[in-house]
Parts: sequence; C-alpha cells; structure tokens
Amino acid sequence: MGQGIAGWVAEHGEPLILQGDLKEDPRFAEAVRRSEISSAISVPLFFRGTVIGVLNLAKGPGASPFTESDVEFTSVLAGQAAAAIENARMFERIQKAYQQLAELDYLKSEFISIAAHELRTPLAIILAYSTLMKEEATEAIQEHLDIVVDAAMQLKSVIENMVDLSHLESGELELQPQPVRFSEIVELVLEGIRPLAEEKEHTISTEIPPDLPTIVADKQKLCVILSNLLSNAIKFTETGGQISIRAEVDGDALLVAVTDNGIGIPEKEQERIFDRFYQVESSLRREHKGIGLGLSIAKGMVELHGGTIWVESQPGSGSTFYFRIPLRSPR
Ligand code: ADP
Repeated sequence: MGQGIAGWVAEHGEPLILQGDLKEDPRFAEAVRRSEISSAISVPLFFRGTVIGVLNLAKGPGASPFTESDVEFTSVLAGQAAAAIENARMFERIQKAYQQLAELDYLKSEFISIAAHELRTPLAIILAYSTLMKEEATEAIQEHLDIVVDAAMQLKSVIENMVDLSHLESGELELQPQPVRFSEIVELVLEGIRPLAEEKEHTISTEIPPDLPTIVADKQKLCVILSNLLSNAIKFTETGGQISIRAEVDGDALLVAVTDNGIGIPEKEQERIFDRFYQVESSLRREHKGIGLGLSIAKGMVELHGGTIWVESQPGSGSTFYFRIPLRSPR
C-alpha cells in the first residue's frame, strides 16, 4: 500500500495515467525507471466500495502513449474483473467449506459407527449379568437391579439407533421383504412401548381395517419406523394424551398415520426434524430424552422401501406423521 504506482492507486482508489511529466514525479520515477515504461494506466479494482486490487497496463519504449479513452475502457474492464475475481474467491471459499463439512461428516459417521460397536458388547454383559443377578437377589436388591436393567435398556435403544444410522449411511442396510400383516407390526410395537405410554397415562387407539391386505415389506424395519414415531408421540405429548395409529390402502401403497395431541411442531421446523441430530430447541422439549436420530432413521427406512414420510402439525394442538410405502416393496 502506498508504494510504487499500483500502491498509490490502491491507496487513493483513483485511476492514474502515467506519462509526460508525471513520469518524473518522485513518487513513481523509481518504478518507471526500473520497468522501462513509456506510458502506463493503473486503475483500482473496486468490489462493493473496497479496493481488492489494481489493474496495470504498460507500454514499453517507443510505443504511442495511452489516451483518456483507454483509461475509460480499462476502468470498465476493471469493474468486471473485480466482480469476476470476487466471485471466483467466493466459489473457492464455498468449495473449501463444503470439503471441510464433508470431512467432518465423515468423521462423525466414523465416530458413531465405532462408538456404537464398542458400546454394544459391554452393554450386553451388563444386561445379561444384571438380569441373571435379579433371579438370585433379595427383593430389595431386585428393585435396584430393575433400575439398572431399565437404564441399560434405554442405552441399548440409543446404541441401536446409532447402529441403524451408520448402516443406513454406509448403504449396508438392506431390505429383507417378506409378506407381513400391518396389524401384526402394530401389535409387536405396542407391546414394547405400552409401559412408556402407561407411565404418561396416554390412550393409544388403532384404526386398522380388518381387510387390510398383506403387504410385502421388511418387518423389522417397519417395527423401527412405527416404534420411533410412536415413542415421539408419547414423549412430546403431555400426560393423558390421545395417540392414534391409522392405516389404509392408498392406491398401490400402504398409508400409515400416527397422530398425537401433543406440543406440535412449528412449520419452519417441519422439514428439518427429519435431519440427523436435529431437535427443536425449546424449554418445553429440552427435558425430553433422545439424541435426535429417530426421525432420520425412520425416513431412511421408509425411503429404503421406496416410500415417503412427512408431517402435518400445529404447535399446541398436535402432530400427525404419515408414511406411505408400496404394498409390494422391491427386493
Ligand atoms: P429425538 O426424539 O431423539 O429428539 P427425533 O429425530 O425422533 O429425535 O425427532 C427430532 C425432533 O422432532 C424432536 O427432538 C422433536 O423436537 C421433534 N418431534 C418429533 N416427533 C414429534 C412429535 N410427535 N411432536 C412434537 N415434536 C416432535
């Protein structure tokens, strides 16, 4: 800045046409002599009011001098060049940021996969031994062991989510379709989830037409999808809530709806809740357990079936999560 011809132009933010007497100016004489310039134009490159560089044009000894119209032309060119340079820099910065994000994402996936793997075995041991000890323990100790088993079961479901996520991400999760009755899935899931619902005094109703056809789908994954939706409905509904599970045939697909009359989801969050680790932050919800993976896993598994999942919700009056999967999922 301030040194030589370009330095002067950058500092002052004005173009300079260097010929005649100006060449003798002590500020530029040294530069003129060093580069054997007969005449030169130097214009600032402006981007949003800031000088980001200087464009220099110079002629050697014997050439005809620059004119005012050359300066005008160069200034127009400089305006375009400044915008192009800034765009290219921005593009580079964005690319770098994307690359860093991709690396972070990879690390996160790796971490989840390793952590889940390493936690599985010790947890299985804790569960096995505490269950075994319960059988031989006195009543008082049995109560303590119940708490241990409950906590270990909670940990197990977190780890299962982590394993499912890493399998989904790595593309390792494969569909194993078989003929299933959806009512059977509902029964299985309700059996596991009932204690949670009872604890919060929720009523769970089902509306499944008796003539609902048998579908071809992955039974275990359907259980995970429904179970994740139901456990959210239970979690995010105040005590004594109403939850319903409905299923019907919609064209060549099975349409399932899980409705609650809970706290609901603001419209602007409704897309993002299906992202990994995304949780709607609010004092109301922060007390709830979970790591923000349930919906992204449900979405991944529905999509594996070639289906779609979405939500309709009104804050304060409840949510309905829908998923629609083909009656016959591709193998
Ligand atoms: P987690 O339940 O572990 O937080 P999920 O991926 O299952 O993660 O859900 C993401 C977020 O979506 C939840 O944290 C919550 O904010 C919101 N959400 C999901 N289901 C419901 C629901 N039935 N009612 C209100 N909010 C919900």
